[in-house]
Amino acid sequence: MSYDANNIFAKILRAEIPCHKVYEDEHTLAFMDVMPQADGHTLVIPKMPFRNLLDADPKALGSLMTTVHKVANAAKRAFGADGVLIQQFNEPAAGQTVFHLHVHVLPRHEGVPLRPHSGKMADHAVLAEHAARITAALAS
Ligand code: AMP
Repeated sequence: MSYDANNIFAKILRAEIPCHKVYEDEHTLAFMDVMPQADGHTLVIPKMPFRNLLDADPKALGSLMTTVHKVANAAKRAFGADGVLIQQFNEPAAGQTVFHLHVHVLPRHEGVPLRPHSGKMADHAVLAEHAARITAALAS
């Protein structure tokens, strides 16, 4: 399986399409999932062109997980969550639908079920407000 440079996250990295960014550094980008399964659902991606975890250079995973760690703690604080679910899918058989390596960060509250995967598009004003909350938590 090869990397398709026209996948939607590659386009976000090239700023060809917009995203609700919460964090960026030299190696990684984090932005809101447009079909959030929970409020604050964020995606963290490496800037390197990996299809998924299986073809990733292991040396790039440290910076990816460092950003996941930062965003997970910030999202937990920003949403007053009881926990944080980290998910990562590899290939269609495992549920992957966008073929640029990404890690899902999902704030979870006791007793609140997740919404469906790739379900309903969220309102952009709501996503912008949620991104701002996480950005503020990252800065505090
Ligand atoms: P998966 O490949 O199954 O791990 O999931 C891909 C995720 O990307 C889904 O949760 C989608 O809601 C999300 N998604 C798809 N297009 C966009 C986009 N343009 N911006 C942000 N998230 C997206």
